[in-house]
Amino acid sequence: MKNEKYWNKRFDEIFKQNINERAIYEEYKKAFDEIEKALKKLHKKFKSQGDITRSEICRSRQYIYILNILNAQNKRLRSSLSNEITETLKKCYEETYIATQKITVSDKENAVHNGEAFAIQNENAIKTALSSRWSGENYSMRIWKNTSSLARDVKDQIVNEIITGRSYKSIALTIKEKYNQSFYRASTLIRTEASAVQNRAAMNAYKESGTQKVRIHSANDERRCLKCKEASSKEYIIGTEPILPLHPNCRCRYIAVAKYSDDEVDNDVINISVKEL
Ligand SMILES: [Zn+2]
Repeated sequence: MKNEKYWNKRFDEIFKQNINERAIYEEYKKAFDEIEKALKKLHKKFKSQGDITRSEICRSRQYIYILNILNAQNKRLRSSLSNEITETLKKCYEETYIATQKITVSDKENAVHNGEAFAIQNENAIKTALSSRWSGENYSMRIWKNTSSLARDVKDQIVNEIITGRSYKSIALTIKEKYNQSFYRASTLIRTEASAVQNRAAMNAYKESGTQKVRIHSANDERRCLKCKEASSKEYIIGTEPILPLHPNCRCRYIAVAKYSDDEVDNDVINISVKEL
């Protein structure tokens, strides 16, 4: 069994590779750009017609046009986010599972055999992992809720600000802010859901390899909270461990308790390198 530091780094790499926040950000930006363009058009039309009343705004074809764009954008945002995230989490599960299996299965034949078994079983395991809930709702429910409330918020914003006569630029700025906030909420969600899926994959692989005990590794820096610090201070017999993540953006992960301590493994590695020289 390789040492904890090595595998911790490996899990970090898998995690970073899979979380493509850029692509998600691009989706939000696209949605915002479209709305901004429509707002500009609406503003131009109002300007050329001089003062108009509240009911005229509501009857305005341009206004209905903007609301339609908004609805279409949010629908698109929702479905492309949903696909992107499902793919991300699926990859996260697979790669973590395989990496974890390699930690715990030292025999090469065994690893090949388990690899085959994984290929057959993984669709179901991944489905279960993706639909499991770590605190009430699964990821798709959270994402959908997130984007529906964004659509509602933005719609209200447009109605209010057009009626109070604010410039399209200032309306666009407020909407942009909302989209940014929403993007940050979505990326927190994805990071947290990915952690849940990654930890579930690791736990499944540990169980299959006959591991008896796990520890919780928590990043030892100033951002670590007391809850995570406490959880990481003991060993757990599998089945009694707390469910990870412990909170949104939790960076904790399960680590199999090795038969040897890290120091002993490090010594082994050093001995082998000396012999090879
Ligand atoms: Zn934590």
